[in-house]
Amino acid sequence: MKPRPVVAGNWKMNMDPRETREFFRDFHSDLLPARRPDLLVFPPFVSLAAALEARPEDPQVDIGVQNIFWEESGAFTGEVSAPLARAAGASHALIGHSERRHVFGERNEEVARKVEAALRAGLVPVVCVGETLDERRAGRLEEVILEQLDAILPQVSPDPDVAFLLAYEPVWAIGTGETATPEDASQAHGVLRTRLRKVLGDSRAVATPILYGGSVKPENAAELMRAPGVDGVLVGGASLDPVSFLAIARAGVPLT
Ligand code: PGA
Repeated sequence: MKPRPVVAGNWKMNMDPRETREFFRDFHSDLLPARRPDLLVFPPFVSLAAALEARPEDPQVDIGVQNIFWEESGAFTGEVSAPLARAAGASHALIGHSERRHVFGERNEEVARKVEAALRAGLVPVVCVGETLDERRAGRLEEVILEQLDAILPQVSPDPDVAFLLAYEPVWAIGTGETATPEDASQAHGVLRTRLRKVLGDSRAVATPILYGGSVKPENAAELMRAPGVDGVLVGGASLDPVSFLAIARAGVPLT
């Protein structure tokens, strides 16, 4: 079965606990119709508790973490493990975001270890892939995103009931105001879904939401979410404002 649309917000290194409470006070998800997208927010670790406390229960907003370390516990100063994040109330973990890959040098093997750790701890991984502008210009889009996907597929169950999400986020579109066209997004999502189908089978490929991310705003969200193969969006900058995040969520309401 095709997944419900997902609208996810990645707050990055923004939103302290007070701002988090204010966000949810002003985020009126009860204004969304019953056929709404699934909602998911990734606050920074320090605001996880505030988000869990302040989020609306109905309709539910899921809360995830932006990163995890693959070891379960021990002498890893500054890191947070998947079991710690799960015990603190997170349900999802963003893994392999382009800022992790490009600012912090995370490689595909590390991304794979994190996916494995998340699944072991009962966190739903939301794995990001995407090409840089140079890679795109060099005609390497498919090669790069498939290499990123292939690295994690051994960790992913073919069972469609084990939740797992992908996000296609072209690096050149993140935080730049440049958005991929709906056609660009559909093409990349098609490449990813074809690989999922080939390696893990049809039901896994159909059940895995593939989100688009990169300068999604209220003005372009509906068009992107209607593009074939796009099951939702992962929103950075525009998710920091409750009004614009709600407008994006509204754009994800299925038409039929
Ligand atoms: P942006 O970020 O919407 O600010 O471009 C998207 C992301 O990094 O997930």
